[in-house]
Amino acid sequence: MVEPLPHVREIPPYVPGKPPPARPGLTSYKLSSNENPYPPLPGVLAAAEQAVASMNRYPDMGCALLYDALAAKLGVQVDQLAAGTGSVALIYHLLSAYCGPGDEVVHAWRSFEAYPIAVTAAGAAGVKVPVTADGRHDLDAMAAAITERTKVVLVCTPNNPTGPALTHAEVATFVAAVPAHVVVVVDEAYLEFVRMADPVDGLALVRDHANVVLLRTFSKAYGLAGLRVGYAVAAPEIAGALRAVALPFGVSSVAQAAAVASLAAEDELLARVDGLVAERARMVAGITAAGWWVPEPQGNFVWLGVGDRAAELAAAAGDVGLALRPFAGEGVRVSVGEAEATDRLLHLLGSLEPPS
Ligand code: PMP
Repeated sequence: MVEPLPHVREIPPYVPGKPPPARPGLTSYKLSSNENPYPPLPGVLAAAEQAVASMNRYPDMGCALLYDALAAKLGVQVDQLAAGTGSVALIYHLLSAYCGPGDEVVHAWRSFEAYPIAVTAAGAAGVKVPVTADGRHDLDAMAAAITERTKVVLVCTPNNPTGPALTHAEVATFVAAVPAHVVVVVDEAYLEFVRMADPVDGLALVRDHANVVLLRTFSKAYGLAGLRVGYAVAAPEIAGALRAVALPFGVSSVAQAAAVASLAAEDELLARVDGLVAERARMVAGITAAGWWVPEPQGNFVWLGVGDRAAELAAAAGDVGLALRPFAGEGVRVSVGEAEATDRLLHLLGSLEPPS
């Protein structure tokens, strides 16, 4: 028998959001993976199709057009950027570049479920710092959890799956307290959905700190989840390390072309995000009116902290054609999608007893 390294057995499973069960005569909605409900814009689809026509060729490993477009949009240098097969790939790249066996990675919990998977796969030890009762990172506790073994800290804002975002002042104070040799990842997968006072200015953090890495994605606001493309912004030394360990040709030519076209169509895509943010507000108002409480959502999803009733609530939603994402014993995450899906959710919650 060929055995993998012992830590490979310790890797927790990634549970993907399931599609809703088919219900005859009922349109069903997938609210289980924080996807964008809008179909691709025609111009983005056309760019992707054009790239498909050259599928016999490898993609540009240097992602030149994508990096140029991102550098222009963000006002950074091209050597501060690193693209990946979704931002989840960049988490793997970061951890493989900066930590290994015996090292520690501090992150909030519950947070993005890929963190413990990637940390364990890197052979490192995860240090999970519980989020507060209102689903926020406890940054003081996270700072206190840093030891001489800590190599990376993962900060997720807005936090998946609980929803709240941190303020710039909170993150800036935290980063200032982290030793300069520890990499601070600010995972901004849901950045475009944030509507709050003093939002995180990630680019300012990168300007001020050589150990800060921003992770962003085309999967959510830009609606390219199926193509797998995300990017990191950091000091050139970190971006260079991310590029060095990356899977060669990891970002397909179709993904690169669609991402570049999406940046060109940004106004239209961000107008859609505004629509989703308005739908989020309607969802929260309805949930609250039904007597339920949710932590302040700043991403494209809301968190129902129903504890032991998570599986039961997800099953009840499945019966009315809604796929939600249960987290056993903790709660249920609901993505913001179509208005009809929101209506159905609110009707369902109105018929159930809210948690006490
Ligand atoms: N970070 C967070 C917080 C996420 O929720 C997700 C996707 N669910 C990702 C990163 C990864 O997104 P992708 O790999 O599609 O870019």
